[in-house]
Amino acid sequence: MALYRDDGIVLRNYKLGEADRIIILFTRTRGKVRAVAKGVRRTKSKFGSRLEPGSVIHGQFYEGRNLDIVTQAESAAVMPTLRTDLSRYGRAAVMLEVVDQISEEGQTNTALYKLVTGALAELDRDGNPLVVPAFVVKVLVLEGVQPLLDRCVTCEATDDLIAIDMSHGGVLCREHRSGDPISDDARHALMNVFDGHVRHVLETTSDQLASELESLSSRLIEQHIERRLRSSTVVDQHLIHDAEADDDSPRDG
Ligand SMILES: [Zn+2]
Repeated sequence: MALYRDDGIVLRNYKLGEADRIIILFTRTRGKVRAVAKGVRRTKSKFGSRLEPGSVIHGQFYEGRNLDIVTQAESAAVMPTLRTDLSRYGRAAVMLEVVDQISEEGQTNTALYKLVTGALAELDRDGNPLVVPAFVVKVLVLEGVQPLLDRCVTCEATDDLIAIDMSHGGVLCREHRSGDPISDDARHALMNVFDGHVRHVLETTSDQLASELESLSSRLIEQHIERRLRSSTVVDQHLIHDAEADDDSPRDG
């Protein structure tokens, strides 16, 4: 068996047998990796606590046929607030879920790796409500699907734009509406975030608008992922399904 080292973000984990856990990581160079951590549920080891969702580790692994084995895990980034603040943990969980959905085994995605490690660190440091919207916008750009926001995707009307639908590629007027409602303020704020003016939006946004942007961005990425899954030819997911019956990792904090 080949030994390798890689950095990775723990996306989720679940029980395996009596004492082990399967850890799903998004790694810097190997994309998504599934690895067994042996014995971590028997002892209250630091090793085990480093393999919780949201942890960023320097890891050492043995390559296996189906699952690798994680033999060492050192913390690469200590993010104390992320663990103890429920709202931040919830936001981290949204981002981890997104990475879980769009990352693939054996596929390096350095831009996504940098993006998510940066966003997690930002969330731990600051906790501002635009971390998730800014993250989602950058992911959509990385995925090559920037929604049209200044006119209806169907008729090009620039007034009375009231809905947004990623499967149509952007916002829609009252007549052509589908997808989710969007306010004019949220639409303009979103345009600013796409233009990279996150700080400006943060400074000028009410709590109410920030929360609309947060739920809206979650919906946009969901719509994108649904669409991506439908067009995907990757169906070999039986391994995940078998183990997920036993899933006890926090998914919706
Ligand atoms: Zn229209």
